[in-house]
Amino acid sequence: MIQKKSNNKLPDKKGYYGQYGGQLVPPELIPALNEVTEAYESARNDSVFMEEYQSLLRDYVGRPSPLFFAKNLSKQLGGAKIYFKREDLNHTGAHKINHTLGEALLAKRLGKKRLLAETGAGQHGVALATAASIVGLKCEIHMGAIDMAKQHPNVVRMKMLGAKVVKVESGGRCLKDAVDSAFGEYMQDHKNTFFGIGSVVGPHPYPMMVRDFQSVVGRETKEQIKEKEGRLPDELIACVGGGSNAIGLFYEFLDDKVKMVGVEPSGKSFKPGEHAATMTLGKPGGIHGMFTYLLQDDKGEPLPVHSIASGLDYPGVGPAHSYFKDSERVEYVTASDKEALDAFMLLSKVEGIIPALESAHALAEVIKRAPNHNRDKVIIMNLSGRGDKDVDFVAERIKMDV
Ligand SMILES: *Cc1c(COP(=O)(O)O)cnc(C)c1O
Repeated sequence: MIQKKSNNKLPDKKGYYGQYGGQLVPPELIPALNEVTEAYESARNDSVFMEEYQSLLRDYVGRPSPLFFAKNLSKQLGGAKIYFKREDLNHTGAHKINHTLGEALLAKRLGKKRLLAETGAGQHGVALATAASIVGLKCEIHMGAIDMAKQHPNVVRMKMLGAKVVKVESGGRCLKDAVDSAFGEYMQDHKNTFFGIGSVVGPHPYPMMVRDFQSVVGRETKEQIKEKEGRLPDELIACVGGGSNAIGLFYEFLDDKVKMVGVEPSGKSFKPGEHAATMTLGKPGGIHGMFTYLLQDDKGEPLPVHSIASGLDYPGVGPAHSYFKDSERVEYVTASDKEALDAFMLLSKVEGIIPALESAHALAEVIKRAPNHNRDKVIIMNLSGRGDKDVDFVAERIKMDV
């Protein structure tokens, strides 16, 4: 069963984490959100629903994912013991399948015919199209034209999985524009459609629901590290785009004495438009149905963003992270494109694991922190996805002779 933490009763009934979150949507969408909230509240207390979900996680996704001691990397960095939570080994290659399966099962429970969503790197689109396929629903994915070119294999995958892919040519033609486009489509037909958001973002109940579905990551990690080390870890590290893999790892440990670090992309530089370091450089504002830290101009319009990792390329962030930033429960730092690329290459060579460029941002922080610790310290990083999708792009970028 997914259970709420005693010390973490957030969000409140209206979906607020302190001042963040809420349901900043047109009034005509409130009933649709209430329908999702009610269905979710009843589903999570329904053992039949939860058993179906858990059996898919086990037999279809391949959970529990291993907790791997990275002996070579730990030795090379010469400090803390480094463990990876291997979400890259999940079916479809990332953590997102954990919540898309939950969303698809919920859509089926509500009698919806179609799953609809945006995608950035294509990872969410693939994960949702996969969930639609196994659960037996139609699927429509909106994707920025630039992302479609950059992540072509994922476009092919989505189509093979039976999804309709809608190319978004507006704005910066990236993730933010895809969200706007998919939201517009949802407004047209929310009767027959379930919006499958790709992270812990959007209006309530999505940040809560996606967090709960992802919290399996932290629950497994806690058991696994107790078995391997006989104690809790000292630090947890994860990259933050919308924040779902980070909160998935952190949630189970929020009441424990464990340091948590979220890593945002500082891209090419800290100049506007060249990064997506939302909490580091943004200010609270409204985006995509929630109040949260936001990279915005003087008028409150979202700024263009950049990251080498499409999955981190978002000007907002999940409201729970905004709350944890202000309350200082989690420390948020940045890693640049260059640092992520170096980390990507290092892990591939040293451990034989090609990480997603998103996960490589978390790894860049591990590389900075681990040498400052003694060998009695334990760091766990969420290896949120595998890098197969990124190899051609990286090879070209570093001018590898291939
Ligand atoms: C989408 C994605 C992310 C970023 O999304 P979060 O919601 O912040 O977790 C990170 N890693 C991988 C591999 C992804 O596909």
